[in-house]
Amino acid sequence: MEFATFADRAAAIEAEPADLEIVARTSELLADAGDDSEERRSADSAVDPQTVEIVARFVQGRVFPAWDSTKLDIGPTTCYEAIARAAGTNVGSDDVEERLAEVGEIGEVAAGYEFGGQQGLGAFTGGGGNGGGAGGNDLTVREVYETLADLAAAEGSGSQDRKIDLLFGLFNRCSSEEARYLARLVLSEMRIGVGEGTVRDAIAEAFDVPEERVERALQVSNDYGEVARVARDEGLEGLDRLDLEVGRPVQAMLAQAGTVTDALEEWDEAAVEWKYDGARIQLHYDPEAAEAGTETRVFSRNMESVTDALPEVVEFAEATLEEPAILDGEVVAIDENDDPLPFQEVLKRFRRKHDVAKAREDVTVRPVFFDCLHADGEDLLEEPLTTRHERLRAVLADGEAPERDEDEIEGLSLLWTTDDPDAIEAIDAEALEAGHEGIMLKDPDSTYSPGRRGKHWRKRKPDVETLDCVVTGAEWGEGRRATFLGTFELSVRAGDDLETVGKVATGITDEKLEELTELLEPHVAAEEGQAVDIEPAVVFEVGYEEIQTSPTYSSGYALRFPRFLGVRSDKDPEDADTLERVERLQA
Ligand code: ATP
Repeated sequence: MEFATFADRAAAIEAEPADLEIVARTSELLADAGDDSEERRSADSAVDPQTVEIVARFVQGRVFPAWDSTKLDIGPTTCYEAIARAAGTNVGSDDVEERLAEVGEIGEVAAGYEFGGQQGLGAFTGGGGNGGGAGGNDLTVREVYETLADLAAAEGSGSQDRKIDLLFGLFNRCSSEEARYLARLVLSEMRIGVGEGTVRDAIAEAFDVPEERVERALQVSNDYGEVARVARDEGLEGLDRLDLEVGRPVQAMLAQAGTVTDALEEWDEAAVEWKYDGARIQLHYDPEAAEAGTETRVFSRNMESVTDALPEVVEFAEATLEEPAILDGEVVAIDENDDPLPFQEVLKRFRRKHDVAKAREDVTVRPVFFDCLHADGEDLLEEPLTTRHERLRAVLADGEAPERDEDEIEGLSLLWTTDDPDAIEAIDAEALEAGHEGIMLKDPDSTYSPGRRGKHWRKRKPDVETLDCVVTGAEWGEGRRATFLGTFELSVRAGDDLETVGKVATGITDEKLEELTELLEPHVAAEEGQAVDIEPAVVFEVGYEEIQTSPTYSSGYALRFPRFLGVRSDKDPEDADTLERVERLQA
C-alpha cells in the first residue's frame, strides 16, 4: 500500500464524526492493506511484518507492537529539524516552531510545506528519491515502517544525526497529506479518533470474526498488527490459537479504588492480599530460551524491560523456577530486616541503566508475586483468581503445593478468602503494621483481564480524612492475647462530653497491642468482665471507609472499617476531633 493511500484514508477517518463510520472506514483500510507476504524481507523476522500489520499499528499512531518497547527516540526538535530540511534551504526549525505556535498541531504545520525539493537526498530512505510533492511518489507504508525501524535501531555516537537524516529522507518524499500523518506518527500524535477499541472492532468487521475473540487474541498477543494478519489469513481458528508467549509482556491488570463494603456486597467472598508499596513487574522465565542469558526477563508496567536493573529478581527466578512461567507481582525495596521501605527507594533501582551493582549496595529489592498468567505451557488467564494463585504457590514452592497455613513461601503474596469484614480489617491492620500500603480486594472467581482497570480488583480507598479520637474503653483479649487490651472504643468531643463513634478492633500486631496496653492500663477506670472503661487520656488517629448514621453509638454515628493509624501523643483529649466535624464529614 502506498503511504499516500494510507494518508488519504487517515484523513477520511479523521473527518468522520460518527464512531460506527470510523470503525467502518478503519475496517476498509485494513481489508485493503493487501497481502504482501512475498515482499517481506524474511519470513520469520519479528520486525518484518506484512502491510496489514503495519497499517493496524500506524492507524492508532504506533510503529511497533504494544509488547515491543522499542522507541523511535525522536524528540520534537529532531522532527522539526527534519521537516525544515526537507522543506528547503530557506526554512529553519525555528520556522517550524513558529508555525506550530500558531496552528498548534504538528501535522498541520508539516502539511503546510512543500517537500521534495531536495533532489537525490531521498536516497536515505532507500527509495527512489523523487520529490513527493512534485508527483511520482512511490513511498509505501512498508518503506515508512522500515525506515522508522532503522531509525529506532540507530545507537551510539552520531545516532541523532542519522535519525535526522533518515527522517529528512522520508519527509523529502512526502506530499503534504503524507507529511501530515508522518509527522504525527513520528511524534505519537496521530489523533484521528482511532483508539484500541476501534481497531478491535475494525478487525472483527474486516475479517468477519467475533469481537470477543479478537479481544482475547489482543490480550494474549498484545499486538494489533499480528491479530489483524492472523484474523485475515487464518480466521477464527488462527485467532483462537494465539496464546501468551513467554518473553513477550502483556498489559497488567489494574485496580479500581473501592471499599470493603462494596466488595462484599458484590462478591460472596473477597480475596484479600497485602498491597505492597513497590513497582509492578511481570516476570517471564523460560529455561529453554534460545539465547543464553535471556531465560529471565523482567518488564515494568509499561512493558519496558527492567531485567538488567533488577538482578535480584533474575537471581530469584533462576534459583526458584523450573518450568516456563509468567508471573505478575511487585518489586519492593527492603531494609536489612527484610522490612519494606517506601516506594521512593525502589525507584532508585527500577529503571537504572548504569551502576546497577553500586545501586544494589545502597538499596536491596525483592520480588513478591501475586498472580500467575502462565505455567509450564498452560495459559491461565481464563482461570479463576484462586486457581491461578494455587498455581503460583506451586510454581514458587517448587512443584509441591503445601497446605495453606501461615507458611511463607519466598516471593509469594499470601491470599486470604473471606466474607468476614472483621477478618478483612484484621488483615488490613496487619498489612499496615508490617509497613505495607494496605490491602487489595479481589473477586476470587475473576479471570485475568490484561490492561483492564475493572471492578474485579479493588484497592482499598485511601483514607481521605482521618479522625483523632479519644480512647474511652477497651476489652481484654482472649487466649494468647488475654494480657493485652484490644477492641478500643473511640469517642469524639461534644461540648464537654465525649460521645462514642466506633471501635477499632484487634488485628493490630501483638507487639503494638503490648505497647498500647502499657499506655492505656494506667488509665483504666472500671472493669466489668472483659470490658474496661478508660479515662480520657490517649488520642488515636484513625482512618475509616465512611461514616454512617447508627444507633449503636452514643454520637448517633458509626465509623465503617475504622483502622488504627497511630497514637497522637502530641494531642490531649481536649484536642481530639469533635462531633461537629464528624457530622460535617458524614454529610
Ligand atoms: P497505585 O499508585 O495505588 O499503585 P496504580 O495506578 O499504579 O496505583 P492500580 O491498578 O491503581 O495501580 O493499583 C494496583 C497497583 O498496586 C498494582 O499496579 C501494583 O503495582 C500494586 N500492588 C501491590 N500489591 C498488589 C497486589 N497484592 N495485587 C495487585 N496489585 C498490587
